[in-house]
Amino acid sequence: MFFVVVVIDSHAQAQHRWEDIDTSGFHKKEIIKKNGLTLIVINKDSLFNASTLQNMVDVFWKIYPQEMKRFNPQSLRTVTILISNDYKGVAATLNGVIKIDQDWLTVHPEDVDVITHEAMHIVQAYPYQPANLWLSEGIADYVRYTFGVNNQKAGWVLPSYRPGQSYTNSYRVSARFLVWVEQHKRKDIVDKLDTALRKGDYQTSTTWVTLTGKTIDELWTEYSGNSAI
Ligand SMILES: [Zn+2]
Repeated sequence: MFFVVVVIDSHAQAQHRWEDIDTSGFHKKEIIKKNGLTLIVINKDSLFNASTLQNMVDVFWKIYPQEMKRFNPQSLRTVTILISNDYKGVAATLNGVIKIDQDWLTVHPEDVDVITHEAMHIVQAYPYQPANLWLSEGIADYVRYTFGVNNQKAGWVLPSYRPGQSYTNSYRVSARFLVWVEQHKRKDIVDKLDTALRKGDYQTSTTWVTLTGKTIDELWTEYSGNSAI
């Protein structure tokens, strides 16, 4: 998930950014450096399962370099993972900070590929364009489907096509459509979309035509008639 919140504290005349971390109360901070990358792990939940956290860290080190290599070698070298109840609703990412909802991972300890999805948002580094958020999330879930290490155990699958869906449903619905386009129309479709989005060149009305010769609505109609992947 991905969104932007900026809160202005008018009394202090200070700007509190979403990615600023309140480290009051319990916290354990660990800084790990490897192959030119730095991972900062801040855990504010003293009861958080240690092996779940280790699994998430392992996913980061395995997946983030792969995501960078394929999509954006210039991606940020320093990433912070925050485990806390600061953010409610699985996870969110902005400016190199991944906020994990401690309660979600406590109840769903196999869902460590939330890191795969969220780390991709750092690699994406797209300019903020609300109209394209469905595709940002679709690509992040495409990456989770493609690179994820524990999706099966987590019970995480791409849902089969159902009438009434739209490519703008985002997340797994859009991800499955991307897999279909990749398999049936253009092998590097996601790479091309990702680059266009990062450059600010992407437009739903034109980019799909340029890349596949068909409008996205034409592609979706074809997908809806023969959606096997
Ligand atoms: Zn997301």
